[in-house]
Amino acid sequence: MRRVLFAANWKMHLGPEEARAYLKTFRARYNRRDDRDVWFFAPAVSLEAAAQAIRERGDLLVGAQDIYWEPKGAFTGAISAPLALQAGAKATLVGHSERRQLFGETDDDTRRKVAAALASGLAPLLCVGDTLAEREAGHTTAVVTRQLAGGLSGLDGGALARVVIAYEPVWAIGTGRNATPQDAAAVHREVRAWLGARGAPAPRVLYGGSVNVKNAAELLAERELDGVLVGGASLDPDAWSQLVQTGAA
Ligand code: PEP
Repeated sequence: MRRVLFAANWKMHLGPEEARAYLKTFRARYNRRDDRDVWFFAPAVSLEAAAQAIRERGDLLVGAQDIYWEPKGAFTGAISAPLALQAGAKATLVGHSERRQLFGETDDDTRRKVAAALASGLAPLLCVGDTLAEREAGHTTAVVTRQLAGGLSGLDGGALARVVIAYEPVWAIGTGRNATPQDAAAVHREVRAWLGARGAPAPRVLYGGSVNVKNAAELLAERELDGVLVGGASLDPDAWSQLVQTGAA
């Protein structure tokens, strides 16, 4: 059975109290289904509250939006994979385009973060994606494969199989302009081929970029998409509980 992954990226929204209230509403609106998983990437300050709020639900998971690669030490303001884990996270985003563009995260940083996540038992969700200029110049494949190589070099097939990939074209994030299912599928095939050639033949590949309750069905009808990573449209628990039921019988 295809298990679709719906990942919510709350970005810099929803403090602990708000996260608790959100997840109470969400749980009341959405019952577990065997054909889907729902992940919540909460701000660091809300990880513990969010993890507590979903604790009896094996289909729901809380993740960090970023980690630093060192396990501990004098790194003011950073959180490590073991700290995120202690707070209840089971996954982490790595290389989100906002981290790359606003905070200067490099491919080599993403490599260290993916390795740190794997070493501590967090599932890394590595985000890759092209800018509009790169897309228009025909560089999408080159950019995405460079980001894959940069973030995942040195990992064997077993480790690669634990990494989830999100293709998130930068021009589609928060802009209201989503990729077509065909455009996304073409990149997903490249991602699968890249991972397959390195011993991970069945990766989970998500699409992200202006997904909402109106376009989710059309996107998820494309079998190359194993799920979606959603920012803006995940912030309201009622709307998100509707979105995660996309395609449900
Ligand atoms: C994201 O933050 O990963 C994202 C895809 O945002 P949005 O859904 O708002 O475009």
